Amino acid sequence: MARDRLSLGASTRAVHSGERQHRLSDAVTVPVYQTSTYVFESTQQLIDFKEGRIEKGEYGRYGNPTVRQAEQKIAELDHAQDAILWASGMCAMTSLLLTILQTGQHMIITSDSYRRTQQFCSGMLRRFGIDVSIVPPGDPDAIEAAVCPNTRLILTESPTNPFLYVIDLEKLVEIAKRHRIRTVIDSTLAAPYNQNPLDFGIDLVMHSATKYLAGHNDLLAGVVVGKAGMIDALRESQGILGGITDPNSAYLLLRGLKSFALRMARHNANGAALASFLEAHPKVRRVYYPGLKSHPSHAVARAQMRGFGGLVSFELDATMAQTGAFIDALELPYMAPSLGGVESLVEQPAIVSYYEMAPEERHQIGISDSLVRYAAGIEDTDDLLTDVEQALKVLG
Ligand SMILES: *Cc1c(COP(=O)(O)O)cnc(C)c1O
Repeated sequence: MARDRLSLGASTRAVHSGERQHRLSDAVTVPVYQTSTYVFESTQQLIDFKEGRIEKGEYGRYGNPTVRQAEQKIAELDHAQDAILWASGMCAMTSLLLTILQTGQHMIITSDSYRRTQQFCSGMLRRFGIDVSIVPPGDPDAIEAAVCPNTRLILTESPTNPFLYVIDLEKLVEIAKRHRIRTVIDSTLAAPYNQNPLDFGIDLVMHSATKYLAGHNDLLAGVVVGKAGMIDALRESQGILGGITDPNSAYLLLRGLKSFALRMARHNANGAALASFLEAHPKVRRVYYPGLKSHPSHAVARAQMRGFGGLVSFELDATMAQTGAFIDALELPYMAPSLGGVESLVEQPAIVSYYEMAPEERHQIGISDSLVRYAAGIEDTDDLLTDVEQALKVLG
């Protein structure tokens, strides 16, 4: 600034003093670039940018260096060319579907799935004239049987929520290729540590980064990974739809990701130990965990996954109220929705996710009154097992 700084007013000094001196420091960690917009040095630089001769920041909705770092880290973890972060998992999913589907087209989803995804597809997308078929989970034949001439997209979680069905990715890709249909996997429950669907030829993979990727129950974010061209298209649409991740959340995500592999190894160990313990317990009617031989998806899961995660669903030999009493008797897990964080969480889906639904309707989609969803954290395995054992005593 040419003028003597002290001759400037208090407001001008408050805004500008020191600000132009910042330099890249020698910090180990990526800074939080808390900015909503980016400076152009001259009209010529702006013109160079507009004509594609230089790459730089333009405006916060079109990118942020902290966010970009998190995107690149996740892309590498999931063997992808590129990744794009969104404000939440649902924001990633809804923006992705709005970007690739058009009125008059048809998509296929599975019955066992995140309830909000299901609501978006069968509620909102139908309102825009997009036809939706809902098929049973983990069953490529059921998917193929639902294919119509205007089918453009197959979307499934793998594993699904809450029953943890796993789709045979190789078969799914074969069917999709034959019918020229795009495939999207919500891989949240596996996370890139346990499977990389892109390696099987899946087009796009979505994660709720709120869960295992961030891993500390302290932020919401979503991510989509895939080929650079498709992620570019999503970036274009993000500039319009606006569901960006805040740089502070991106920083927390980056921090959480550094311990991702260590955390996942413990989540896998805890999930597997809990599932085996529960399956052997007389008060437990059924356990859903793809690592167990009794799970219908076990063979497929073993063939394409490296581990099976921390989420275990099970039905007790109990009423709705007794199931609540069991959950209340647990001392280590918090009672809260979500999964994938360092703290174990537990919930009764009939109450947390389906309370408004009539019991008959709930039962029809398999959500029984005694269903428990236990998301094992990274606590010591023995402590979690001892706690579950003591809590099961309330069932007599
Ligand atoms: C949590 C979750 C979502 C939604 O993600 P948010 O980050 O909560 O918006 C979508 N799919 C699955 C499988 C999830 O577990």
